[in-house]
Amino acid sequence: MPSLKLYDDGTHRNLMLEDYGHGQMVQANQHLIVHDGEGMILDPGGHKVYNRALSETTLLLGRSTLKYIFLSHQDPDIVAAVNGWLMTTDAVAYASALWLRFIPHFGLDSLVIDRLRPIPDEGMHLQLAGSDLIILPAHFLHSPGNFSVYDPVSKILYSGDLGASLGMDYQEVGDFAGHVKYMEGFHRRYLASRKAIRAWVDMIRTLDVETIAPQHGALFRGREMSGRFLEWLHGLECGVDLIPERYLVPDR
Ligand code: FE
Repeated sequence: MPSLKLYDDGTHRNLMLEDYGHGQMVQANQHLIVHDGEGMILDPGGHKVYNRALSETTLLLGRSTLKYIFLSHQDPDIVAAVNGWLMTTDAVAYASALWLRFIPHFGLDSLVIDRLRPIPDEGMHLQLAGSDLIILPAHFLHSPGNFSVYDPVSKILYSGDLGASLGMDYQEVGDFAGHVKYMEGFHRRYLASRKAIRAWVDMIRTLDVETIAPQHGALFRGREMSGRFLEWLHGLECGVDLIPERYLVPDR
């Protein structure tokens, strides 16, 4: 599978491993950031993509070493193969402090368990060879312990499940209005509330974002398209906003 270069200035590279989903599995993107010999893989995925994602990542890293594995939240399409990644590299994995005692249930070997580290609720900074990456809170969107990553060099925002789209055959959003139908169902049902959305969007708007790269589906390239996504998300009702007064016991 080919990879897509999102940014490259010679020292700093942002690469997307394309479309490892098939059949009944949700399509997922794996992202790699490499700066001056050190790399971070974002949301490396589950067992079915593990072999290909690992060999592709090894190839793309070349002589660079994998320093970090970033896990935006606890879902299997993100975390399930983390044991393999930790066993075959010297990387340190970061995940929300909320999920640290759950992730070992995916089968973490005792040899690597010390290399799973917590991200505090307020987020944090990580460095690749001195280049800053900002781990931003995105709680309840959809997971209660959830994070995005902003890379100030490429100005790419890695938004995880935010902006996820399913079922289209393009990699970059060209027609925003036509794209909404591929995002809407997921965002309405999986995201917790408008309050959670607005806390995130208002934070993101303080950053200089050129590209928004979700973990599933198509990218939002350019300030205008990224801005349109943020605007759409800001106005969305979802989750508890849409809960009825009471649920009904299902009919037989
Ligand atoms: Fe998820």
